Amino acid sequence: RAKETGSNAVCFYDASMDRAVRERNVLAMDMRSGLLRGEFQLHYQRQNDTFTGAVVGFEALLRWNHPYRENVPPSEFIPIAERSGFIVELGEWVLREACREAASWRNPLSIAVNVATQQLADPRFPGLVQDILQETGLDPARLELEITETGIIADHQRALQTIRHLKSLGARIAMDDYGTGYSSLSMLLAFPFDKIKIDRQFVDGVATSAQSAAIVRSTLILASSLEIPVLAEGVETDEHVNFLREEGCVQVQGYFYGKPVPRTEIEAIVNAVADHRPDQAKVA
Ligand code: C2E
Ligand code: MG
Ligand code: MG
Ligand code: MG
Repeated sequence: RAKETGSNAVCFYDASMDRAVRERNVLAMDMRSGLLRGEFQLHYQRQNDTFTGAVVGFEALLRWNHPYRENVPPSEFIPIAERSGFIVELGEWVLREACREAASWRNPLSIAVNVATQQLADPRFPGLVQDILQETGLDPARLELEITETGIIADHQRALQTIRHLKSLGARIAMDDYGTGYSSLSMLLAFPFDKIKIDRQFVDGVATSAQSAAIVRSTLILASSLEIPVLAEGVETDEHVNFLREEGCVQVQGYFYGKPVPRTEIEAIVNAVADHRPDQAKVA
């Protein structure tokens, strides 16, 4: 064992730690080539109106079909991409792909896209969003950018400016994973969010934990006084839905309504024809 020598402490050699670091480095490299080889794919999870049950939009969620490692989840590869800085490039691909996909839908449903901290901090980001909107022809009002507390906590002033810039393009801003940070509440007052997404850890506990129920309830009360709509994430059961309906949460997302699925599986929803206008009858 290596000997500790005060501030110049030598790290113990640990084979398992070494392996984990090597694995991360390999994945970080695989990611770059994987993007070029088309290994990344978006899945789409529906977001529903709590009261009518209608689908109001979809969240785009990134998937990686790694050539030899089965199912590397975002919880594993996103942090690696963040550490290497590759998330900026990967995130640009996600945004373009999601906007292109949504622009092709017959129904003008909204599309929510996750934005990483480094993307939001990149001074080129608002310009990129503007370019992609123009290039894909997506109505900016249909684009919802999901940001987290870590994305805005480092530099409040700059984040506020960026958010205002993005909103001036017509995009909407949602606060993701609400309740998991240290200062979620003050964030709500300081930033002009268009939506709050309550994290699924609180939704999961509404029926069993008085604390979770209290957090969800108080968030809904505060949001309603600020006139910000709330979406609850991770809705899995009847109990969840009933609680959220009673408490006035307007939107829900979770396995109860549907898991994230490839684009081919949402075609029926995004292209469903609600009425029969003459121009559509002609095509049929
Ligand atoms: P998130 O943005 O909070 O996305 C919601 C996550 O909860 C998704 O996990 C989704 O599959 C999962 N989920 C939805 N409903 C349920 C449910 O009823 N029960 C359970 N147990 N889980 C549910 P996923 O797809 O594994 O993504 C995890 C996280 O990875 C996302 O959390 C987001 O932070 C990040 N992520 C995913 N795609 C992207 C991306 O394109 N860019 C960035 N920056 N981050 C992404
Ligand atoms: Mg999200
Ligand atoms: Mg979330
Ligand atoms: Mg999350």
